[in-house]
Amino acid sequence: MAPRAKRDNQTEDRALIGWDGIRFTVPGDWNVTGVSADRANGYLKVDSPQTMFLQVKWADPSAARPRTLAGMVTQMLRAVRKQPEPASDSPDLRPTLEAYLKETERRARKQRQQFDCKIRPQTSEAGGERVAVHFTWTGGGVGQGKIWRCTTCRRTVIAQVVGQGKDPVADVAASVFSDMRDHPEGGWTVWGLFDLVMAVPQSFVLRSHKFLSGYIRLEFGDRREGRILAERWGLANIARKKFTIREWLGQMGEAQKHGSEYADVTANGHPAVRATGRVSGLLATLGAARDSLPSLRPATEYEACAWECDETNKLYVLQTWRPRGASSLMGDLVARCECH
Ligand SMILES: [Zn+2]
Ligand SMILES: [Zn+2]
Repeated sequence: MAPRAKRDNQTEDRALIGWDGIRFTVPGDWNVTGVSADRANGYLKVDSPQTMFLQVKWADPSAARPRTLAGMVTQMLRAVRKQPEPASDSPDLRPTLEAYLKETERRARKQRQQFDCKIRPQTSEAGGERVAVHFTWTGGGVGQGKIWRCTTCRRTVIAQVVGQGKDPVADVAASVFSDMRDHPEGGWTVWGLFDLVMAVPQSFVLRSHKFLSGYIRLEFGDRREGRILAERWGLANIARKKFTIREWLGQMGEAQKHGSEYADVTANGHPAVRATGRVSGLLATLGAARDSLPSLRPATEYEACAWECDETNKLYVLQTWRPRGASSLMGDLVARCECH
């Protein structure tokens, strides 16, 4: 089951997908099936239960190492690597798009299908924030999408909805693109997939992720501000067994290890347990210092919150490690973690 986008009051169920600043909604029964954790070259694939799917690729020059900066836009697509082109604020998106469509054409030809594509003229969108080119194609399926460059974050994004003859590709594309965002807003990055929707401060980047059936783990870090670890278990009643929430937090989380004090609180309307502790011991402290390099602000202050959402039967554990003197993020993290 996918997360429900509460801000969407349409009768149709929509699922919110968020990944590294890219954010959009899809029909509620669509799910992420492919993801890239490469910050410079992002990729997401979202599948419908039937034949339609959505593909999003983006190139992020700000996340690239300096020596590859010049080729970022073209680096997005293997096909155009041989024709690098420096990123600029008024780019010509057509060469990148044409290279992308060539790949599609090659696949259609392999299936002995005739390939036709229509590329519309470049336009300005989103109040001038984006330069965009819309396209459609037929041949071995039907595709509708667009490529754009955002002047705010300088990302280049290419997104398309693909289906077969009878699929409502145009309708789905229109609804997906109508609220698609390409950079974080209000200082927070929304991360949403597999029925998890949460947000972390924009400066935190994804360090690791794990998606198993019944278990999701996302770890974020910021060298100056510390670390955030979010975990969510499905079928909470079975996972937790006889453990209380406090015992779960102490043992599955690091609350016990950091000598935490516990308090009963409320999280999103559910009874919850909050833990506060401190990284202690020579090795752990040295580790925290090393992780903070070069800022020399070791994240030694530990805070965690665990709760069970009885409406969705999910168990959430959020843990943070922050430097001394930094303000707590926990209240905001819990409020932005949508459990039901
Ligand atoms: Zn942007
Ligand atoms: Zn809940």
